[in-house]
Amino acid sequence: MKKILVLYTGGTVGMDYTDNGLAVMPGLFHSQIRSLAPIAGVELDLIEYTDLIDSSDINLSHWVKIINDISNHYNEYDGFVVVHGTDTMAYTASMLAFALYGLKKPVILTGAQLPLVHRRSDGWGNLIDAIYSAMQDGLYEVAIAFNHKLFRGCRAQKVSTNRFLGFDSVDEEPLAEFGIDISWYKKRMLKAPKDAFTPIIPKLIKVLDLSFRPGYTTDFIADTILNTDAQAIVLQTYGSGTIPIHNQHLVDALTSATKRGVLIVSVTQVIEGRISNTYTNSKLSKLGIISGCDMTPEAALAKLWVLLSSDMSENIIRESIRKSLVGELTEDY
Ligand code: ASP
Repeated sequence: MKKILVLYTGGTVGMDYTDNGLAVMPGLFHSQIRSLAPIAGVELDLIEYTDLIDSSDINLSHWVKIINDISNHYNEYDGFVVVHGTDTMAYTASMLAFALYGLKKPVILTGAQLPLVHRRSDGWGNLIDAIYSAMQDGLYEVAIAFNHKLFRGCRAQKVSTNRFLGFDSVDEEPLAEFGIDISWYKKRMLKAPKDAFTPIIPKLIKVLDLSFRPGYTTDFIADTILNTDAQAIVLQTYGSGTIPIHNQHLVDALTSATKRGVLIVSVTQVIEGRISNTYTNSKLSKLGIISGCDMTPEAALAKLWVLLSSDMSENIIRESIRKSLVGELTEDY
């Protein structure tokens, strides 16, 4: 018999329709999940958070709570399901992937596009697929179960607000597909980590995420970088890592920031593909900018946050950014 702990944090799946729009309802998810027919071979325990949220309200304290709940119950359960709103699920999945260092059990996030109170809710299927995934032997990672697929958490992104296909991971094939039969793609899954499970609790780290746009935004980004006290910046560049490199104000701002020790990581705004130095406009290493390879902006933000929360030296942190720690990137060849 497998034991799975379900953490309900909020999100559409357990919301109800109110005069003020869809809103979280204490107790509703609990009463619905109780109506679920028992699944053979699994015993489910549920913790419903007292502070249920629309996931757009997520902050550091929620992440710390989820990490602590998993850590404190780590030895009692075979796997964990984190029920979460879809809007920031990819950020939380990435945060957990890096913070749960040495994880040797499945941690599966899921949610829904339509609440369980809706007749056509996708929530039931997503929940069942998440529970099956959390029961899997040999799955040592954080993943998202959504719309009949299991995605690596630190590779997934929200890709639709109105289709049931809410998530995808275009740079990485899914870890499983839930058709009439379930296909587990074991070769794509992470190997068991050698190090012991020693979670890193994220601290109050200032990581900025800035995305280039033609026009005024370029100067806004330059001014922001000059004046910020952020410790790290995720720079969402165009295409394969290009920026308006002929804007001297921007180049000066980037150079002065990297010289004063701000970690700047370049990731592409484009859904698929990676950073390269093919163009004059993408030769950013001379400005001290580190390539984020094919990391999603969500993964880059979480990775910087967790690395800066750890006790690693600055050199090791710099080296780790371009390395695959939990399958979040394809290293440069
Ligand atoms: N606004 C909701 C949330 O992220 C959307 C959802 O769960 O699908 O909490």
